[in-house]
Amino acid sequence: ASEDGGIGRTVASVCCYCGTGCGVSLTVKDGQLAAVDGDASHPANFGRLCSKGRTLGLTVRRDEARVLSAQLRRTRGAPLLAVPLTTALDAAADRLADIIRRDGPDAVAFYLSGQLLTEDYVVFNQLARGLVGTRHIDSNSRLCMSSAVSAYKASFGADAPPCSYEDLDFADCVLIAGANPAYAHPVLFRRLEEAKARRPGMKVVVIDPRRTDSAELADLHLAIAPGTDVVLFHAMLNQLVWDGLIDEAYVERHCEGYLEAKSRVREFTPELAAGVCGLAAADIVQAARWFGEAGAALSLYTMGLNQSAAGVDKNRALINLHLACGQLGKPGAGPFSLTGQPNAMGGREAGAMATLLPGHRDPDNAVHRAEVAAAWGVASLPAGPGLTAVELFDAVGAGRVKAVWIAATNPAASLPEQAKVRAALQKAELVIVSEAFAGTDTLAFADIVLPAATWPEKDGTLTNSERRVSRVRAALPPPGDAQADWQLACAVGTRLAARIAPERAHLFAYTAPADIFAGHAALTAGRDLDYSALSHALIDAQGPQQWPFRQGAGQVRLYTDGVFATEGGRARFAAPAYTPVADVVNAHFPLRLTSGRLRDQWHTAARTSLAAPLLRHVEAPALSMNPADLARLRLAPGALARVRSRRGELVLPVAAEEAVRAGHAFVPMHWGRAWMAGDGVNVLMNGALDPMSRQPELKHAAVAVTPANLG
Ligand code: SF4
Repeated sequence: ASEDGGIGRTVASVCCYCGTGCGVSLTVKDGQLAAVDGDASHPANFGRLCSKGRTLGLTVRRDEARVLSAQLRRTRGAPLLAVPLTTALDAAADRLADIIRRDGPDAVAFYLSGQLLTEDYVVFNQLARGLVGTRHIDSNSRLCMSSAVSAYKASFGADAPPCSYEDLDFADCVLIAGANPAYAHPVLFRRLEEAKARRPGMKVVVIDPRRTDSAELADLHLAIAPGTDVVLFHAMLNQLVWDGLIDEAYVERHCEGYLEAKSRVREFTPELAAGVCGLAAADIVQAARWFGEAGAALSLYTMGLNQSAAGVDKNRALINLHLACGQLGKPGAGPFSLTGQPNAMGGREAGAMATLLPGHRDPDNAVHRAEVAAAWGVASLPAGPGLTAVELFDAVGAGRVKAVWIAATNPAASLPEQAKVRAALQKAELVIVSEAFAGTDTLAFADIVLPAATWPEKDGTLTNSERRVSRVRAALPPPGDAQADWQLACAVGTRLAARIAPERAHLFAYTAPADIFAGHAALTAGRDLDYSALSHALIDAQGPQQWPFRQGAGQVRLYTDGVFATEGGRARFAAPAYTPVADVVNAHFPLRLTSGRLRDQWHTAARTSLAAPLLRHVEAPALSMNPADLARLRLAPGALARVRSRRGELVLPVAAEEAVRAGHAFVPMHWGRAWMAGDGVNVLMNGALDPMSRQPELKHAAVAVTPANLG
C-alpha cells in the first residue's frame, strides 16, 4: 500500500471471483473504498478487468447485507439471536468438545471454500486434522476441479497445470472443451480474442452442447451431446493415428501406455463418434487435423469435463491427445485446466481437502503424514482420506457426522440433490457457519453463525490457474465483529484445545497471515510445487510468482524436458472405456438439462447480487430451450414451465434460444432460495460421483418439461 498525502491511498490486491486471479488496485479515501481499477503491473491481467471485477466496489457493504455479529440458536427451531463473538466462540468450542468426547473425532467435519485464502485453509486444516483429528475436511473445490486434479496426477504424476496464460499468445490451435471462458474467465478470453486477431492462422475449436459466446469465436463449434466427450477425444486420437500425426519420437521417449490407448481407440471411428456425440464425422476429422498439424496446440477446459461421473476419464482422454502429439512443455501447448474459484489451487496446495495433505501430500502415505505431523508439532495425523463433499453431507444426513463447520460457501444452494442436502443440514446436531454475507441459503440451517471478513478486508495469498501466487491485501477493516477466517479458526481452535488437548494449543498461536504462510511454504520444500523460498515479503517486493519457485524464479511451464513426476518419469496414456451420463434419458425424462454460468454472476450470487448493474445482463433465471421444442410443448417465451428430474422440480419462465440444441435445456446455476425465493437448478441435479475424483455430475440431468399450471 502507498499513502497519498491525505488524498487517498492505493492497495494492490486480487479480484475475488474467478481463477484468472486478476490484479486490482484499490483506492481508499476517507476510510471508504473509492475505486477499483485493474492493476497494470499484474501479469494475470495487465490492468484489464471484466464486468464482475469492475463492479467489485459496489459489493462492499457494511450494512444488513453483511453478517455483522455472531449469532446463536439455543435450540432447533428457535431464532438465531445476535450474541457477543466470544459467546459464540465459546459455544462452538463447548459443543464440538462434547461431540468429540462422545462420538470421536470423525463425528466432526469441515466444509471449506475456494474463496478462502491459503492462510485460512492452513489453519482450518490444523484445526481439523491437527487438533480434532478428523479426516473429514473438504472444500467446494470438490465440485469444481477434483477431476482435473485426479487426471493430472494419474497422467503426469502431480497435480500441476503445466501451462501459463502467455500460452494463449503462442497457440496455433486452441481446443476449448466444456468451458465458456467468454463468461467464466472473460479476461483470458479477451486475450485469446486478441491473439486470434493477431494470428489469423490460429484455429479455435469449441466443444460445448450450447452455442455459447465462446463458440462465436470458434472456427469450429462441436455441439456435443452431454457426457460423450470421451468418445470424441478417442475418435480424434483414432484420426491422428490414421493420419500419421502421432509424434512417435515423443511418445517413445516420454510416455507409457500408448499401445493400450491406441488399441482402445481403434473402434472409435469418427463415424461411430458422430452418432454417439451428435456431430458430423467430417467435423471430428477436421478438429483432429487442426490439433495434430498445429505447431502448438493448447486445450482449455473446466466444468463440462470435470462435473461428471466420468470426469477423470474425460480429462485423461483429452490429455492423451497432447501426449500423442507431443503438445506440452513448449510455448502455446498443453492441457490447461482453468480453475473456477479464486483460490481453488491454494486449497490443493495447503492440502485442506479430504484426499490431500499439505504440499500435495497423500493422507494414505505414512511418511507424508509423519512429515506434516512433525512440521505441525503434533504426534500424528489421522490416516487415510476423509469424506468428500457429497459424501460428507450424506454422512451428516445418516447421522454418522454430527457436526459440520461450513466456511465461506453455500452448500444449501451449490450441492446437487438439494432436498437431500437440506434434510441433512436440518438433521445435523451442530452446524457452524462462518460467513460474510447475510443472505445465503445455508445460514438458515446454522446453529452458530460466526461473522467473517471478506474481500477487501483480508490479508494473505491465493494461487490462480497458472500456478501464480499473489498477495491479497486488506484495504478496509472488517465491519462489526467480523474477523478473517483464519482468526475465527484460531479462536475456536484455542478454546477447543483447552478443552480436549492443551498440548496442541500451539497450532493456533498465529498473530499474522505472513507467519501462517511461512510455515505452509516450508512444507512445500522438495515437493513438485516447491515454493519454500516464497514469503509475503518476497511477493511484496518482487510481485506475484509462479510455482515451482526455485533459484529465485518461478517456472512458466512444466515438463519442458519431457520428464514427468511419475515414478519412472514417463507420462501415462489412459485407455478409458466410454461411460454414458449417469442420469438416463427416457420417455419419462426425455430432455437433457445442463447448467452453467452467466457472464455477470458468480456462484450462488452472494456477492454479485449486491451489484445492481450486474443484473442488467440477465435479471432472473430462465429455462432456455430450442424454439422447436417450445413450440412442440406449446410454451410461449416467458410462459412458466415445470421442470422435473428424478430428484426434484422447479418452475421457471422459458426462453427461446437457438443456441440450445433440440432435446436439450439450460438453466444458469446462480440462483437459490435466498435470491429468488425459490429453488435453484441444483435441486434437479444428480449427485452421482466420479469413482476416482468423487466429483458429482452437476452438469447433467434428465428432465421433463411441461407447462406449469399454477392456478
Ligand atoms: Fe475477476 Fe475473473 Fe473478471 Fe479477472 S476475469 S476481473 S479475476 S472475475
